[in-house]
Amino acid sequence: MMFEVKIQDIVSEDYCFEKVRELRWTNGVHCPACNSHNVKKDGMRTSRQYYQCRECNKKFDDLTDTVFSNSKLPLKTWILCLYFMGLNLSNVQIAKELDINVKTAHYMTEKLRGEISEKKLIYSLMERLNVMKST
Ligand SMILES: [Zn+2]
Repeated sequence: MMFEVKIQDIVSEDYCFEKVRELRWTNGVHCPACNSHNVKKDGMRTSRQYYQCRECNKKFDDLTDTVFSNSKLPLKTWILCLYFMGLNLSNVQIAKELDINVKTAHYMTEKLRGEISEKKLIYSLMERLNVMKST
């Protein structure tokens, strides 16, 4: 008899936000609008940390200006989608693993592939996930 353990039951939203913060703010938190490091924390909602810039007063959070912002899906769904892409799973397989429909999986992989070529954060996440895979 086989037990079916889904990776999304093991990985927490907290963990994913921690990883994103670790990778995104390697040189400290800075304002995406003016690049100032003069920022203050502005509370947490669920696992997401919010900030406000002391220079330009703009508010931002861990996901501002990333492919993950403005998505209704949990961050971990995106992170695990990246992970499965690294394992060369098809959209159909990814949809099954993440309990989402194939159309959503297709949308996510397209969006992430588009970002991989441009965004450093996605790159670092991919690298980190590949490390996870080989250990
Ligand atoms: Zn600013």
